[in-house]
Amino acid sequence: MENKDKIKIAFTISCLAVVSILLANKFRKQRKRKQNIGSCYLKSEAKPQHNFKRVLANNSYSAFKHLKLDDDSSSDLHPFESEIKALLENPELEFEFCDGTMSMDMSDTYVWIDDESKLKELAQVLSKERVFAVDTEQHSLRSFLGFTALIQISTREEDYLVDTIAVHDYMGILFPVFANPNICKVFHGADNDVIWLQRDFHIYVVNLFDTAKACDVLSKPQRSLAYLLETYCGVTTNKFYQREDWRQRPLPIDMVEYARMDAHYLLYIVQCLVSELKLLKNGVFSFSFLLSFINDFISKVNSSSENSASSLDDKFYYVFEANRRSNALCLQLFTKEVLEASPGQSAASSIISRHLNDHETSRNNPQFQDLVRRLCTWRDLMARIHDESLKYVLSDNAIIALASKPPSTPQEICSTISQADIDTTDSQNSQNSNSTPRFPSSVVLSHLDDFIYLLQDDINVTNQDDVFQLVLKKHLGPHGSCNLSLYNYGLLSKTNTKGYKKLVNKNGYKFSKKVARKASRELFVQKFSCKSPVYHNCRIYANDGRLLCYCDRRKLEWYLQRDLAKLVDESPPAIKLLFEPKGRPEDEGNDFYIQSKKNICVGCGEGNHYLRYRIIPSCYRIHFPEHLKSHRSHDIVLVCVDCHEKAHSAAERYKKKVASEFGIPLFVHKVVDGNEEQEQNGNGNGSTSVMKLADGGVSPLELRTAAMALLRHGPRMPAQRCQELTEVGRVVKKYYGGREITPEDLQNALLVGMSPHEKRRLQKKKGFSLTTPSTTTPLLPNDHKPMDQSANPNPTGSVHPGPDGSVFATCSSKLSLLGHGPHGKQVVDFLIKEGGEDGVREFCQRWRQVFVEAIHPRFLPGGWDVTHSGRREFGDYSVYNPANKIL
Ligand code: AMP
Ligand code: ZN
Ligand code: MN
Repeated sequence: MENKDKIKIAFTISCLAVVSILLANKFRKQRKRKQNIGSCYLKSEAKPQHNFKRVLANNSYSAFKHLKLDDDSSSDLHPFESEIKALLENPELEFEFCDGTMSMDMSDTYVWIDDESKLKELAQVLSKERVFAVDTEQHSLRSFLGFTALIQISTREEDYLVDTIAVHDYMGILFPVFANPNICKVFHGADNDVIWLQRDFHIYVVNLFDTAKACDVLSKPQRSLAYLLETYCGVTTNKFYQREDWRQRPLPIDMVEYARMDAHYLLYIVQCLVSELKLLKNGVFSFSFLLSFINDFISKVNSSSENSASSLDDKFYYVFEANRRSNALCLQLFTKEVLEASPGQSAASSIISRHLNDHETSRNNPQFQDLVRRLCTWRDLMARIHDESLKYVLSDNAIIALASKPPSTPQEICSTISQADIDTTDSQNSQNSNSTPRFPSSVVLSHLDDFIYLLQDDINVTNQDDVFQLVLKKHLGPHGSCNLSLYNYGLLSKTNTKGYKKLVNKNGYKFSKKVARKASRELFVQKFSCKSPVYHNCRIYANDGRLLCYCDRRKLEWYLQRDLAKLVDESPPAIKLLFEPKGRPEDEGNDFYIQSKKNICVGCGEGNHYLRYRIIPSCYRIHFPEHLKSHRSHDIVLVCVDCHEKAHSAAERYKKKVASEFGIPLFVHKVVDGNEEQEQNGNGNGSTSVMKLADGGVSPLELRTAAMALLRHGPRMPAQRCQELTEVGRVVKKYYGGREITPEDLQNALLVGMSPHEKRRLQKKKGFSLTTPSTTTPLLPNDHKPMDQSANPNPTGSVHPGPDGSVFATCSSKLSLLGHGPHGKQVVDFLIKEGGEDGVREFCQRWRQVFVEAIHPRFLPGGWDVTHSGRREFGDYSVYNPANKIL
């Protein structure tokens, strides 16, 4: 054989070897992946709620966040508290619930709402009604917290069935009609519905009339809807449907009929009840109601309300009362159960005590209680991970059976659970003896191996926390068997709850970078993304009917409140100006303002979450002349978190470029304590102090870091130790002009350079308030005097380039010296000085270019343009008209 051939053969053999090794590896990996994929039933079972793109109430142990209407309010307050309280005091009494000629029959037709556009049409219809009836159906077995599967809405003309599974993510569309205090919503027994609507959709009911409350006031013998339907409408219902699976689609026809009936007759029933309430003044009231009425009356007299006396003979008193009790329901807030000491343990305690009551013998079996606790921890966590109810995962009886006589093989485990559930069904339903055996739930079946661990008696587990950790890691950890979802990722967040944080830290359990990044990204989305559509796409028309712009609600209200416009459309709202505006956008090449805008990321089109992004960084923009800020809708766009990250880091890089180009550093280099400076320089004459202090003074950031380091060693640290200390000590000392430092100085140093807003935030966070100034140090950093007061033409503070290009700052009352604010101010001052407003405009264009190059946006609204001039004529009433600046 020739050498050449030998080489060829050797080469072929080695190639084959490499290929087979690669293939073997690939197969091994695939097999491994398959094992993992096959392990959880949810990898192959689709549940409707997993298609929801936004979930307000997830299954983590953290509190539910309510809607916040403005930035100041807290998310644990009712966003419509004042509106509802206004209704409680001043209810609307002239109800026109129904015209009395309503036909009893339900027609054959109804409207099924299963997409966004139909929902919008419905909102449009409802916004024109003064009253409509509502009922909801829930699904709770295959969900941890339960979810609304259907909403029935009836007007006098039509029955609507809203498929809240299909339109789950768009339900915000109905928010305005439910919150509108001028539209009365009639429910029967709204206690739960009101809370469910908050939980699933952030829908808050304002102006409710609850027919069950009317029954109470009237002291009806029964208060069920079935009773009312029978009494007033002669219809019988089968409440059996209440417990049906309302997730089914298409909804079986009998369930559709049942669902319609729950809302259809309410408007008629309420009219009958209101007439009865009005008749009540003739003395036809019950004793118990009279008692509560008298109590109420006394408390009202005591609280010296002037009109309570007259309300006695008010023929609407009882209507008022029913109304008041109804609206009181609206003030309820949905809450999630807070973290128990250890998850699942309250359920465990109640199972144990119930069982021990009946079975004294188990008392001598310590293992029983321990097993019940372990199983309850497992059940609680598994229900949350898979978004299933506790009952579905594993029944109480199955837990008792498993703990009483722990089985050891998978077969035994299954039969113990089935047997326990059959026994329960039989005892509940004794006439039905041939009940079908209930199999263990899919959660149990697909995670049977967990039980081998949970039920072993020599289990090396000291407490429930360890079970929790292991289960969490096994199922949601880096190589976990189950899927992360919107419902369960919150369980991974270390910052979620204190208790959970403790568990995670104690066990030193860390998630892989990938999982951690995924969870943190999701948390970021949850925390920072806009909670409701940003663009309301409200329209403003000129009085000749031409479209002037799209805008938000606030802007519409601004014009409406001043009687400068009238409402011409409601959903989405539109107004027509009552004065002649300056020009028309089309005529001025400003087409951008007459485009409706989509609530999606302008970069990649992501529509599930988005946050506002400022193309012109705020450190510059806040210093722009007021009228140049007006085209903010052009320069604030929506982006998803990924595009946000890209755009933001590009902007930070570009800021550095601007800093070196203009010779204006990004951070303030030097500050000095104004007090010391005064002492040193007598009257603190401006120019000399700047020169003199060129070698004194410290960077505010450095000062802050130094002060924090010193404070961390304890606020009571002897002052001397600070003095002898190292570099950090020297920084603080230098700031105070070389004098001895007191502990208060350190506290105060933390606040140097902060804006009032930042100071407030810090004080709130740290829970400390500023120490009062002592006589020897009369000036504290929070009322820090400008170093060169006399030379300062700008009373709100300014920044001055020092001789070496560093910046001395006089502490402005508003501007933080810790961020890029002073840099921004200097840059903008420079732009205006050199190029006037055109200079600012050019600068904006540069930033738009940076943005475009960073994310290559494909979904910018039509008319968006890098060279957008923002030159607009402002009308007489415009907030941006320089002449109207006070507004
Ligand atoms: P309803 O107010 O009668 O329309 O009931 C609304 C929802 O409450 C139903 O879809 C059920 O999910 C739930 N529900 C009401 N009563 C029961 C019950 N007795 N058992 C189980 N679920 C119920
Ligand atoms: Zn699973
Ligand atoms: Mn119902």
